[in-house]
Amino acid sequence: LFKMTRYQQRIAALVFLSVFIFGCNSPSNKNSGVKEELNQKQPNIIFIMSDDHAKNAISIYGSRLAEIAPTPNIDRIAKEGVLMHNVFVTNSICTPSRAAILTGQYSQLNGVYTLKDDFDNSSNHLGKLMQKAGYSTAVVGKWHLHTEPTGFDYYNVLPGQGLYNNPKLKEIGKQWKYHNKGGKVYKGYVTDVITDESIKWLENRDKSKPFFLMSHHKAPHGLWEFAKRHEHLFADKEIPEPNSLYENGNHGPLKGERYGSSISDRYPKRNMLHQVTREGWPTGIIDTLGMTKREKTHLAYQKYSKDYLRTVAAIDENVGRILDYLDDNHLAENTIVIYTSDQGQLLGEHDYFDKRWMYEESLSMPMVIRYPAKINPKQVNNDMVLNIDFAPTLLEFAEAEVPSKMQGRSFKSNLFGSTPTDWRTSMYYRYWMHMAHHYIPGHYGIRTKDYKLIFFYGLPLNQNGALSEITEPYWEFYDLKNDPKEMNNLYTVEKYQQIIKELKAELLVKKQELKDTDESYPELIELRNKFWN
Ligand code: CA
Repeated sequence: LFKMTRYQQRIAALVFLSVFIFGCNSPSNKNSGVKEELNQKQPNIIFIMSDDHAKNAISIYGSRLAEIAPTPNIDRIAKEGVLMHNVFVTNSICTPSRAAILTGQYSQLNGVYTLKDDFDNSSNHLGKLMQKAGYSTAVVGKWHLHTEPTGFDYYNVLPGQGLYNNPKLKEIGKQWKYHNKGGKVYKGYVTDVITDESIKWLENRDKSKPFFLMSHHKAPHGLWEFAKRHEHLFADKEIPEPNSLYENGNHGPLKGERYGSSISDRYPKRNMLHQVTREGWPTGIIDTLGMTKREKTHLAYQKYSKDYLRTVAAIDENVGRILDYLDDNHLAENTIVIYTSDQGQLLGEHDYFDKRWMYEESLSMPMVIRYPAKINPKQVNNDMVLNIDFAPTLLEFAEAEVPSKMQGRSFKSNLFGSTPTDWRTSMYYRYWMHMAHHYIPGHYGIRTKDYKLIFFYGLPLNQNGALSEITEPYWEFYDLKNDPKEMNNLYTVEKYQQIIKELKAELLVKKQELKDTDESYPELIELRNKFWN
């Protein structure tokens, strides 16, 4: 009689189990995904980028909005991967940030300084380099770089800003039309449509290659139109307000300088109320007749925030659809999923809306990354990362070479918890589109872990779309450790003078290193000579 010991029984059970599991995963089997994806050396990459999504409007960052407007699906990426706390944009506006992400270069190198500049699609950018690395590549949704996408095996992109409802999309193979022209109507809400088209491409992709998909949303960019299903979201709720909506401390230019420092004497077209009451607000204009200034601002903030957060709700749902697709198709393990936004957004802080400023809310980009096969869940990263670092990082993950002309640096090892000892400790920022649209002067500055110094030079410098009006130059300096909300411009305070002097020196070194030396703008050099000290 054949009789097994308990040990032998266990071995037999394991053998049986192994045959069962691996048998199910044999290449001939329908559920072969798990094994196949791990055999693929290069990871798949899905880069989901929305437009103007503030860190404050993503619940895992724990802002005042976290409870009322949760984003469980975006949060899930961070919980299963890495939550990035210090990711910054180099020029806080749509078109330039997108160009910086693709080229790994600042505006002064890639040539896209403002919304009006065309992207040089003959450049050797991320899409082309991923293609060369053996990837099947696609971009779906917002493009906003004017010229035809190159480096993508497939594209289907919005003309210009695109529409929220029944948007047009311009597909590869159809006759390309410049910038905001052309396209075919797709029925539905834009965030759903972009996800539908992204998933459709994933379904039909060349499965013999790893894939790189850039799925770019229009939302939550203004002017906001939410999906019908979110019409009543927040209906009876009060959206928590930032303290600086009414009380601004000494934020902005110092007293006596042009444009004033208090909210009431500041350039009025920069504030919340102006935005919400201006003509063409798609979800209806609020009636503020007979109200006090405070009441008007309160109402404007509530209206702005609710419209904004309703468009965010659809973004989060659609991020969930992508994650579900990866799960259902056994692709989750070996696919890097990134969620970010082209820059941040001011949501009533200092009574501001929009972006462009070097202030934290607009300078900061949200970023969460998941890569289950290689990166442990629940990681947090505080390294100073810039949008020009995205391309080098993705290329390193793809095992491709990073061109030396890229100014960014890969943060792949940072994601594994090992930050290079010479990682950057400061960053350079510049906004070029002087006074255009929302009356924000041209400025540049430096941010370290603890401080921020900004020079508002206020010149158009012949930039496309900049207004010709010259504004008074001024400086701002913030002690971020003690004043994270940037309520007090301490530029003239005695005890900071040594630090300010050092930051100015470092700012000039950065400008030199990054090839942005102002030499081609004599009017700026002249102004620098007068106002630098
Ligand atoms: Ca944007």
